[in-house]
Amino acid sequence: MRRYCVIGNPIEHSLSPQIHAAFAREAGVEQSYEKVLFPVGEFETSLERYRREHGLDGANVTVPFKLDAWRYAAEKTERARKAGAVNTLRFEGDTVLGDNTDGVGFIRDVERRHGVAFADARLLILGAGGAARGLLAVVTELPLGRLAIANRTQAKAEVLASEFHCEALPFAETAAEHWDIVVNATSAGITRDCPAVPAEALADVALCYELFYGKEPTAFMAFAARSGARHVVDGLGMLVEQAAASFELWRGIDPSTDSVYDMLRRRFS
Ligand code: NDP
Repeated sequence: MRRYCVIGNPIEHSLSPQIHAAFAREAGVEQSYEKVLFPVGEFETSLERYRREHGLDGANVTVPFKLDAWRYAAEKTERARKAGAVNTLRFEGDTVLGDNTDGVGFIRDVERRHGVAFADARLLILGAGGAARGLLAVVTELPLGRLAIANRTQAKAEVLASEFHCEALPFAETAAEHWDIVVNATSAGITRDCPAVPAEALADVALCYELFYGKEPTAFMAFAARSGARHVVDGLGMLVEQAAASFELWRGIDPSTDSVYDMLRRRFS
């Protein structure tokens, strides 16, 4: 039986075991998938020990270890290399392959579940951390109409803009464009804050997308709805889709995601 896990700190909240169990059930394959807590600062030694003791075919990696996983993976997919972060590891013999499925998870959720196309779209990303990097690694391959980043620390937005060949805008200047998709890739939702994007930048936006997910709408989601965004969603679908892309990398099967998404959505509502 193949063995997988999700590694993080904290990890108790992770929904990944349930998602992967549902994919495996539907695909008719047997596997184990558990949550593993590693001490911060001890990723590599902990993973070496875990692999020796348990044997592992693959692992998902979450906060705060995505950069450690990037360093650990001798081989990387193009999107992981560009993102500078790894959320999926595949172990085959002596080969460790690192992938980043966050960006493709976001794209699939936006296009397939929410029916919004990227072609010619004007896309604004709020935030310049690891999640923003994961998105930029893949959205820069799309035929967008415009791509800009705004971040609380402007200098970080400028570094990303130069690396990914897009624009860095101060929050105030985002009001001058009519965006089609605005993504909150900041972690402000965790502390119930809202990034300082002006209401005008969110008015009539086709899709305001919050990467964070939980039982309650975040401050950004509430603000986007008040500001006149046409559709406001959280990142639960992205979570399911990035898991599906990991499952596909490991098992060569592209699982259907709707029933898992519906099950988790019911639980959150
Ligand atoms: P990082 O810590 O790498 O980056 C945090 C970013 O948020 C920085 O740009 C930071 O700005 C900004 N920020 C933090 N607090 C505030 C605030 N109060 N107001 C404005 N900006 C703020 O986090 P990640 O990029 O890893 O994660 C970002 C979010 O994405 C998290 O909520 C995470 O849960 C979510 N996520 C969801 C996924 C999904 O599958 N749905 C997958 C991955 C992430 P500054 O540079 O100024 O510090």
